[in-house]
Amino acid sequence: MKTLKQIFPPLLLLMILYVQIVSLYVNYSIYDSRELAILFAWIPLFTLPYILTRKKVIYKIAVTLFFVAGFINLSHLLILKGPVTASSLFILLNTNIREASEFMELKSSGLMLLTIPYLLLFVIAARNVKPVKIHPKNSYIIIIVLLFSSIFLAENLIHGRLIRKGIPQTAKALVSFADEIKTYKALKKRKVTKHEVDFKTSELEQQTFVLIIGESCNRNHMSLYNYAKKTNPKLEQRNDIIVFNNVVSPYSNTLGSVLSALTESNLENKMGFDKSVSLIDIFHSINFKTFWLSNQSPIGIWDNAIYNLAQTSDVSIFVNNAGNTSFESTYLSSYDERLFGTLHTALKDDSQNKFIVIHLMGSHSAYSKRYPPDYDVFTSHTNNKEQLINAYDNSILYNDFIVDSMFNILSYYSSQTYETISSCIYFSDHGENVYDENDNAGHDYSGSMPKSNVEIPFIVWLSTEYKNKFSEKNSAILSNTDLPFVSDDLFHAVLDLNDITSKIYSKNRSLFNPDFNAERRRILEDNMDYDLK
Ligand SMILES: [Zn+2]
Repeated sequence: MKTLKQIFPPLLLLMILYVQIVSLYVNYSIYDSRELAILFAWIPLFTLPYILTRKKVIYKIAVTLFFVAGFINLSHLLILKGPVTASSLFILLNTNIREASEFMELKSSGLMLLTIPYLLLFVIAARNVKPVKIHPKNSYIIIIVLLFSSIFLAENLIHGRLIRKGIPQTAKALVSFADEIKTYKALKKRKVTKHEVDFKTSELEQQTFVLIIGESCNRNHMSLYNYAKKTNPKLEQRNDIIVFNNVVSPYSNTLGSVLSALTESNLENKMGFDKSVSLIDIFHSINFKTFWLSNQSPIGIWDNAIYNLAQTSDVSIFVNNAGNTSFESTYLSSYDERLFGTLHTALKDDSQNKFIVIHLMGSHSAYSKRYPPDYDVFTSHTNNKEQLINAYDNSILYNDFIVDSMFNILSYYSSQTYETISSCIYFSDHGENVYDENDNAGHDYSGSMPKSNVEIPFIVWLSTEYKNKFSEKNSAILSNTDLPFVSDDLFHAVLDLNDITSKIYSKNRSLFNPDFNAERRRILEDNMDYDLK
């Protein structure tokens, strides 16, 4: 027992456990008990050097290291209600804190007082150095403990997951963060640019446009598009939406699809995304305040270019900071309803004109992580495939609630402020093949791209004020719902919808225009004509 106490000094243990207890108290739903095992594996590696050298300063260094790591994690927990991660460090570095706190409802409140006992524990633990007294016949205990620690660490190391699953949270966040910064620095930071733009028919009005970007939503799994399972009970009830039924995405991945939809780049001009004018540039140039509200991971090699674009907005808020990598964040639950509050805050903003982009997590794999238990509605299955399809359909059902609620929120704000002309588009970045074709699930493919990868929902919502003010535009929109469209030309459709014109605007690329070119051949990412498949 005495020997164990030397390896695991009770005061040091108390200090370390304190952070774990607070973490359970603050947010038990995201508590990871593995963290405790990891800490126990690491403690001996820090206390044994003292036992062997009998130098007090070594003990004090060990206590201080655990204290600093714990303090970072503890203050993060108390302010952001979750453990420190690379994502949150990334956000903190890139965000205007005052603005972010308004959106994320950060409360530094009385909870911060919980750091005081921790500070006291540190002072006591650091001062209380017990002299080393280990009887030689007890040295086998040291060997056993050391063996356990080394096996734990070696096992994680061999499986290539030491960083992911073998080191304490704070260390993991710092290592992943350093890694991320290296990748991020390699990319040039995009800046918002001014362009010559004008309103076509009117002078500047009070105007709000919301663009909801979905994720991996295959419209053939939506009952709004005649899917057999009732996955759209809410949207089907609405009589104020306009449903387009022949829209496909240019690419089968998030990066290409989102960037080509939001910039002048398209499948034919193949302009570099970083050199293309974006919708944010356009709205900025015509004095709209621009917002980017996202539930996707801010970090990761795939998402960095999107993060770069998001950062050109006046306000960019990322609510999903639980992952150390974008891959990890896809396995954690961060439900899209977390964006309701940020949408309210953006709509309440007192700027006259607003362009709000909402980036959902939608139906990103793993599907079962995308919806709360209440939406676990489709469950009956006889095999793994059916089970996966059920999970996907449940995520579509939850997405029905999300998109419907966002239309309601916008509708509420439009009715509150009678003079605001508001409009909204919901579309998915790309589709998803969920055993619809090729006995495959996902949105990767080889050879010819499955249609399910690109067949996306595309829905327009207009306020009464909008329809009154732009009645001709409303008729054009209504008469084009069956026309074939690729979302890489969304840029032009959005300018048209908002009555904006510019040198780079092309009316025959706008789905909402009477002069829209419905003859465009839809040669997508795989270089094949979608309409000939
Ligand atoms: Zn995607």
